Amino acid sequence: MDLADLSWPAVAALPRDTPVVIPIAALEQHGHHLPVFTDSLLLGEVVRRAKESLGDQVLFAPLLWLGNSDHHLDFGGTLSAPPRTYLDLLAGLAENFVQQGFRRIVFLNGHGGNDVPGRQVVFELRQRHRQRRDLLFLLATYWNLGAKPWESDPTLHQREMGHACEWETSMILRIAPRLVGDTRAAPPVEPGNAFLPAARGWITPDRSAPGHIGWPHLATAEKGEHLFRAFSADAVSMLERVICWDGNSWEG
Ligand SMILES: [Zn+2]
Repeated sequence: MDLADLSWPAVAALPRDTPVVIPIAALEQHGHHLPVFTDSLLLGEVVRRAKESLGDQVLFAPLLWLGNSDHHLDFGGTLSAPPRTYLDLLAGLAENFVQQGFRRIVFLNGHGGNDVPGRQVVFELRQRHRQRRDLLFLLATYWNLGAKPWESDPTLHQREMGHACEWETSMILRIAPRLVGDTRAAPPVEPGNAFLPAARGWITPDRSAPGHIGWPHLATAEKGEHLFRAFSADAVSMLERVICWDGNSWEG
């Protein structure tokens, strides 16, 4: 169900073990061929499909379109909450729900730059409420929940999420084809190894002049539908685990 549709008494009457999902995305450059709202559009579609499956079992907050996108600020149109501001913003939102008695808070993430601050936020929230045993704070990034979509669609070239890539472009082609520019003009940009397995600090111009990373010219709407099905099924499975959590154990 949508928080935005409910009155305050309706929210107050909900069982406090109802999982609360805060969808977090971004508004940032997505190469020459995709709109800056790409991450928010894609996560919005994953959330829309998940809601259809979960009905009133889960409370969805409105999608937060402002993300941590400082690494894209060299490109026009990008809007970003700096990392420390973003930490406080997410923690504050979660605290609002905790203060209202909710116990199961899930950040459902649709932007790579939110991953590190999102992990830090759930970690810090747990420390802040260390006297409690009944709280669950999760960060779940929709493309990292186990799906291996290339196994069921061998036409997929990529094996991981890129940026404005085969995967993201395919999904925008599925839901908003009028927003997709000329993908044939977008050259492949390899993800590269970047000193793996070390974690390297980077800004997007270190990796890509046009702004995308991956193989956008391979995108199709059919691949997009396949990806949406895989990712929304994963999101539903994760939220079903949250619904089934016993309320205090480590196992989920
Ligand atoms: Zn993206």
